[in-house]
Amino acid sequence: MRIDVDVLVVGGGVAGATAALLLAEQGRQVALVDAQAPASDWPGEDYDPRVIALSPGSAAILEAVGAWPGPWADRMAAYGRMQVHAGRGSIEFKADQHGLQALGWIAEIPALRATLWQRIESNPRIQLFCPDRLGEVELDGPRARARLESGPRLSAELLIASDGARSPLRRLAGIEVDEWHYNQHALIAPVRTERPNDGLAWQRFTDFGPLALLPLADGRSSIVWSQASERTLAQVKMPAEEFLFEINACQDSPMGEVLEVGARHALPLVRRRARRLVQGPLVLLGDAARSVHPLAGQGLNLGLADAAALAECLTPVESLADRGRALDHYQRWRRSASELIGGGIHAINETVRLPAGLGKHLLGAGFMLGQGLWPARELFVERACGFDRDSPALARRARAA
Ligand SMILES: Cc1cc2nc3c(=O)[nH]c(=O)nc-3n(C[C@H](O)[C@H](O)[C@H](O)COP(=O)(O)OP(=O)(O)OC[C@H]3O[C@@H](n4cnc5c(N)ncnc54)[C@H](O)[C@@H]3O)c2cc1C
Repeated sequence: MRIDVDVLVVGGGVAGATAALLLAEQGRQVALVDAQAPASDWPGEDYDPRVIALSPGSAAILEAVGAWPGPWADRMAAYGRMQVHAGRGSIEFKADQHGLQALGWIAEIPALRATLWQRIESNPRIQLFCPDRLGEVELDGPRARARLESGPRLSAELLIASDGARSPLRRLAGIEVDEWHYNQHALIAPVRTERPNDGLAWQRFTDFGPLALLPLADGRSSIVWSQASERTLAQVKMPAEEFLFEINACQDSPMGEVLEVGARHALPLVRRRARRLVQGPLVLLGDAARSVHPLAGQGLNLGLADAAALAECLTPVESLADRGRALDHYQRWRRSASELIGGGIHAINETVRLPAGLGKHLLGAGFMLGQGLWPARELFVERACGFDRDSPALARRARAA
């Protein structure tokens, strides 16, 4: 038996699950396939190490599908201030100076995903296939045809690859990817500091790489420290006291000394960029389309903007058989956003790695200049929050509200 749907989404992470819900809202029949259901033992007692900074524009996109703030809102921390330091320079952003309640939220990825899946499970237009994977896929006809590993055959007008940075579907489709291996790993862990975070997101470009302390709802912070792989992998294994000595030698945040560190994890950092985002009935979104260095906290924000942009491009398209121009528009739009943000982040990371601390001081001088120029800071906030003209209409609603 073959199941015919309008849209087949492969990968129900935050980006793919949001796309599935937005397209179901348009009245389309959707099938969602994921290799793994959200963990049933979540939430655990402590925070999940995968916490991210979510922009107000992204929150507005999640709100549009009924997944914000969700049942775990008390585990999310709003941040009203952000400070970034490099060398002797620094720049500070305050939400109230830009007419905002918050510059963003620090949220756990599993909380966002579990909330989205609750919405999906109660949506009559979405059929879930989980745990499952694509066994085969054919993309040369007007409809995509796929066979799942568990047996069912599906056909769809639109096939979405949202199966993460190493996207197996992108590989099956033969789409080439540009990759930059930074030879860096990010160390992530919750930390307790002398003073609570007071809603401050803080970052310093240290001699070893960018170190961020992101506020958690219980007053602690979550660190993301991107450094040479060798150094990070050693820090994950060293005794806690030794790690505390190393981090305190590099950080001077208003929260004071780091007194305690929780479980430490290391994640390899690779920038990836798919050469095309559309191929026949196939569309790439989220990390399957591109993944970026975490120093600006933009990866998932880009993925959610992809989901909203795709839905926006398809809004006027009644039958997805007529999707051609809408998908061309999506590809041009999201490729230029990826280039601007992904390329900008890449350039900053390369600059700070210039020898003899030169890059760090250049960046610090840029921050000092930016601190004195209110229009430059306003422009930055508009883009980082997802309110600029290039953002999808669903995200920009948050600015209008
Ligand atoms: C250290 C670090 C810090 C970060 N901080 C931030 C931040 O502050 N802000 C921010 O916006 N972003 C941040 N990011 C980036 C962010 O984590 C990612 O961009 C985001 O999680 C990607 O979401 P996604 O839904 O595209 O992919 P994923 O979360 O990878 O989801 C992919 C889904 O596809 C499924 N899947 C995989 N293979 C298959 C298959 N064969 N068949 C079916 N399903 C499959 C998986 O089970 C999963 O559900 C950070 C990243 C790192 C590494």
